[in-house]
Amino acid sequence: MKFISYGAARQVTGSMHLLELENGFRVLIDCGLDYETKKKSLTDNNRFFDFDVKSIDVVILTHAHIDHSGNLPNLVKQGYAGQILCTAPTYDFCSHLLMDSVNVQLSELNKNNTKGKRRKPKATNASDLLYTPKDVMETLRRMVTFNFNKEIEIADGMHFTFVPAGHILGAASVLFRVEEKDKEIKIGFTGDLGRVNANLVVDPSPMLNLDYLVCESTYGGKLHHDTESPEDILMRHIQATCIDKSGRLIIPAFSVGRTQAILYSLHKLYKQGRFNNIKVFVDSPLAIESTSIYTKYHELLNDDARDFLRTNGSLFDFPLMLEVENMRESEAIMSHYEPCIIVSAAGMVEGGRIVEHVYNNLQNPQSEILIAGYCAEGTLGWQLKQPDPYVTIRGKQIPKYCTIASTDIFSSHPGHQMLMDYAKLYDAKSLKKLFLVHGDEKSLEAFQLALKKDGFNAEVTEKDFTYRIN
Ligand SMILES: [Zn+2]
Repeated sequence: MKFISYGAARQVTGSMHLLELENGFRVLIDCGLDYETKKKSLTDNNRFFDFDVKSIDVVILTHAHIDHSGNLPNLVKQGYAGQILCTAPTYDFCSHLLMDSVNVQLSELNKNNTKGKRRKPKATNASDLLYTPKDVMETLRRMVTFNFNKEIEIADGMHFTFVPAGHILGAASVLFRVEEKDKEIKIGFTGDLGRVNANLVVDPSPMLNLDYLVCESTYGGKLHHDTESPEDILMRHIQATCIDKSGRLIIPAFSVGRTQAILYSLHKLYKQGRFNNIKVFVDSPLAIESTSIYTKYHELLNDDARDFLRTNGSLFDFPLMLEVENMRESEAIMSHYEPCIIVSAAGMVEGGRIVEHVYNNLQNPQSEILIAGYCAEGTLGWQLKQPDPYVTIRGKQIPKYCTIASTDIFSSHPGHQMLMDYAKLYDAKSLKKLFLVHGDEKSLEAFQLALKKDGFNAEVTEKDFTYRIN
């Protein structure tokens, strides 16, 4: 069989991998949006595929994050006629995330068309978009859901199993068992892995007896430094900003995964009586929808979360938590002069309502922006973390007078040590090759070096390159 990476090769975003059997059956694993390839815009980066879309027989989706799912409607629009297999929570998240992706594209087009002037998002031409809501609806119609740990036959001699990956609710690693030429080959794709003992989600499970592993490398070479509990870390920032300075604590967070992990810790702190009278604004419609999906599939969460839910009747709702329904309410937060916590999307501050909160608070020494995870180079989140005294927003240089801090504790990916611990769940001798994807150059290099030291045959995957698997 053949393996080709069409995306997330020597970069993090745009996950898209292909397995092709000797009999020509072709499986695409993930179909995400590429935020890194340096072209003019998101739509230019992602409009075309490096393969014949109609030649794909089936798509398997590891999880809902847009860098794994976000180009599916474009695949369908361009003629992909098959099914998309995923877990049930992934389907639910996609029904919101993919529609939101259309709005993000509209905003970007509008931004480019109006050269920085603020105006209601409006595309002049639907063909400028990667896809429309109609394409999203057709994509959702193609999705078929499967449970974890149940082997499914998808072609003659080819089976797959969704294995819990942690990361976010519903995230799966995919184990393929292929029988070809009287031989059985097992190849596993980690998808995005979660960390051990994460808030809410289960620990990642290994895929047993693999011959080949395609492994994410997001935090290769980067250690997570946080040794305290998520609650102690959050409380330290709440104390320093909201209590000692009566200021605002602004936390950029992805709508799916990170927002829920943060709200869960805030709820725990509230229950422990460690903060009161400080309002928590959740300012992202998508995050609010996603939060209800976490509650809907609570039986897939870890023991701690299920116990907490049983005891308290809710994972995320507490009296100080306020869901911000619309833009008017979002803008009104600026005139809330009491100390508060604002959790808003998107996590890398590359768009969404968080940009407004960052813009409004950057020059306020009483405010703090707490970056709570990975920010790809070039995003506003990444700019904020740099030592420069200014950031550029909407073409304007703005000085950073507020406190800017970061924590890895809510990262939904494992740090270097946890990645190594995960790899060591496999036998270096029986694993023929470990393909490294989903990492920047430095991370891939560091992870590969560490794996080689431990006896693994690790190779950084090249984009569009065909590897023979046998
Ligand atoms: Zn992810």
